[in-house]
Amino acid sequence: MLPEEVLRQAAAEMLDWHGSGHSVLEMSHRSQEFASIIASAERNLRDLLAIPDNYRVLFLQGGATLQFEMVPLNFLVGCGCADYVHTGIWSGKAIKAAQRLGKVNVVASAEDAKFTYVPPQNEWRLATDAAYVHYVANETIGGVEFHWTPDVELPLVCDMSSNLFSRPIDVSRYGLIYAGAQKNIGPAGLTIVIVREDLLGKAQPAPSLMMDYRTHTRAGSMHNTPPTYAIYVAGLVFDWLKGQGGLVAMAKNNYEKAQLLYDFIDASSFFANPVRKCDRSLMNVFFTLADPALDELFLTGAKERALLQLKGHQLIGGMRASIYNAMPLAGVQALVNYMQEFEAGH
Ligand code: PMP
Repeated sequence: MLPEEVLRQAAAEMLDWHGSGHSVLEMSHRSQEFASIIASAERNLRDLLAIPDNYRVLFLQGGATLQFEMVPLNFLVGCGCADYVHTGIWSGKAIKAAQRLGKVNVVASAEDAKFTYVPPQNEWRLATDAAYVHYVANETIGGVEFHWTPDVELPLVCDMSSNLFSRPIDVSRYGLIYAGAQKNIGPAGLTIVIVREDLLGKAQPAPSLMMDYRTHTRAGSMHNTPPTYAIYVAGLVFDWLKGQGGLVAMAKNNYEKAQLLYDFIDASSFFANPVRKCDRSLMNVFFTLADPALDELFLTGAKERALLQLKGHQLIGGMRASIYNAMPLAGVQALVNYMQEFEAGH
């Protein structure tokens, strides 16, 4: 969900951006107008996350999936190994991608409990010669989230695709953060990378220019045409976030929304969530019905009430309520009201 104000502003500016006589969709990425759009987006992104000066911000394409490969191509190839934490489907995909390129040490896995918890750091078996430690901050499909930052000596690399901007983070604890924009930031097509400069200095030359982070830092994300419209909308979302009180305000809202839904699920004997309470995602609330035969009926009734996209991921089934920043508390309340009604009727 994107903030309605953002969609309205994008609509109002669609035909004529700031009196320029053309749409952002028609702009050259080399134009002065677009230069101001990307500069303002980066400024606000840096402000919101309080990014230190020794970090570079990149606006790339290829999704988080390309980052599953760019990270090892720049930092693992030619080195001993890399440490990965396995907490669900997305970290599993990151591991698989890295294994094609080098040696991966899985420091901990929650597979024994069907990925319903985050393995605590005191159980991790970190390698002594690893190039970095990789984890997925929020497993979007299983609804499992790290509510703490791992404390490691090695560069920490994190996939924050589904929870970046949902709360304040300390960027200085990380070597590299990446996130596909389409969950909590803006439209699909944009991937944000935040990387510490000294790591780039030490990186291996990647086998192709496009896969080398330095190609993109040197060119200011303009080695080739960046996803201009997605950057523009993300910029509007950053403005909106600042207007809402920034990430401290977001964290408070997100906690309240998720709590409302989890409290209801926990009190219900019809709906259930299997994730360990302290590791539950504030962004994606996974839940099951007592009888999966009722799933389709539940989804049909939900759609009639404009409660959309509740079907769980095809790999694990069940339901998933994605309650990103732009989802108001009233939206979650509407879902809870419907769930209550459905439970009573079935
Ligand atoms: N990581 C996480 C945590 C995700 O949620 C997703 C997308 N659902 C991905 C990676 C893959 O992103 P993309 O499709 O943009 O490559």
